[in-house]
Amino acid sequence: MPKKSTAPCDTTCDATFDLVVAGAGMVGATAACLFAKQGLRVGLLDSKPVADGQADTIHPRGDSRVSAVNIASMNIFQALEVWQTMLDKRVSRYHAMHVWEQGSDAAISFDAQALGQPQLGFIIENSVIVSALIEKLRQNYNVSIMENTSLSQRQIHKDKLVLVTEDNKSLECGLLVGADGAQSKVRELCDIDTASFDYEQDAIVTRVTTEKGHRKTAWQSFLPTGPVAMLPLQDGRCSIVWSCDRAGGMDCADRLMDLSDDAFCKVLSGYFDQHLGPVLECDERFRFPLRQYHAAHYISKYTALVGDAAHITHPLAGLGANIGFMDVAALAEVVEAARTNGRNIANHSVLRRYERWRKGENALVLGMMKGFKTVFGQSQEPIKTARRLGLNLADRIPPLKAQFAKYAMGLSGDLPEICKG
Ligand SMILES: Cc1cc2nc3c(=O)[nH]c(=O)nc-3n(C[C@H](O)[C@H](O)[C@H](O)COP(=O)(O)OP(=O)(O)OC[C@H]3O[C@@H](n4cnc5c(N)ncnc54)[C@H](O)[C@@H]3O)c2cc1C
Repeated sequence: MPKKSTAPCDTTCDATFDLVVAGAGMVGATAACLFAKQGLRVGLLDSKPVADGQADTIHPRGDSRVSAVNIASMNIFQALEVWQTMLDKRVSRYHAMHVWEQGSDAAISFDAQALGQPQLGFIIENSVIVSALIEKLRQNYNVSIMENTSLSQRQIHKDKLVLVTEDNKSLECGLLVGADGAQSKVRELCDIDTASFDYEQDAIVTRVTTEKGHRKTAWQSFLPTGPVAMLPLQDGRCSIVWSCDRAGGMDCADRLMDLSDDAFCKVLSGYFDQHLGPVLECDERFRFPLRQYHAAHYISKYTALVGDAAHITHPLAGLGANIGFMDVAALAEVVEAARTNGRNIANHSVLRRYERWRKGENALVLGMMKGFKTVFGQSQEPIKTARRLGLNLADRIPPLKAQFAKYAMGLSGDLPEICKG
């Protein structure tokens, strides 16, 4: 194992970095890899133990948390030379997607071949993504990983920050990247507000075995209580993300969590039977409350927020982590441009460029997800008819459909260079 370098610091601090990333989740670890690739000295800290990056940290039967990863994100992982490691661990490609509304003939299908793509995207366990990135970081002498610690103070000095950790270490850095998720401490230390909205839904996740194979297709059905997705896994099973009203109705999260495994499989079979046959067995179910929020600002003095620290959205389109990876790619691009021009990487105008770039793009995604949830949650007849017509029409207009698919694959909008592949 190579020895980590912690750059020498002045007399008052324990370590000096060009940049500190708080949060070693999927987005923070990607940020650390990107900045380390630029030759910057990076400190990466997490309040929990950080994966050691070895293959045996990956659960043999799979992690219950998976993400649909789009082509733009794959392009980032390829550029970071971690994609092959992910493939070697466990990645499932999907070539088609079928979305329909329960109880109506409204449906839309996407096919990679028809769109001239080798695949539409990938289903990857979150732990596979993190461990491949950490494995890469642990080989880099310019990266120091600090685990089981958090920031307690962020002091602004003339042209740098001094950060104090809960275990009383002081870290000097030019730029702080907050990738510490929903309850971001960095966001709190910067006093940044969020606009939030509770979906009053929970996502239930588990893995299931179905009688018929998934045929490398992602399946999603919109029920009156919320969307349920069956995502194809490499071992032939499917990962379920069932977003449903928290309480009250037949298919509410409270009730679904209380059902026996057999009863849960039976309810699920009722919605997917026609495509996948009966659901034969399921793993343990986990539940996640769903809400949306958006930080009022992505930047503060010498600081930038990325990923869930800046925004959280509904998982129905599988975009949350993907837009986080794109934040990081955009931030890395503006930082690199500043360095090329001999400017301070944390200059206000540099960070402001990042904020302007990503906040508008993310607001669009958050707005669309809220819109989808609202439109598919209505049961009045005129809205149901409009919904059916809209979905069927989109299915029959190839250029419109191609535009939707391009968006979901992360191949439209104002893309950072690295996302273009
Ligand atoms: C059910 C469900 C399904 C989803 N499916 C998809 C999908 O298919 N595709 C997709 O793109 N997105 C999906 N998402 C969204 C995606 O999971 C998140 O957007 C993504 O995990 C965010 O990553 P992150 O690294 O920003 O935050 P996190 O994953 O929350 O990581 C934050 C990291 O910071 C650490 N941390 C926390 N507090 C501190 C602190 N004070 N100090 C230091 N470290 C700290 C944590 O330990 C963690 O390691 C889904 C979400 C849900 C709930």
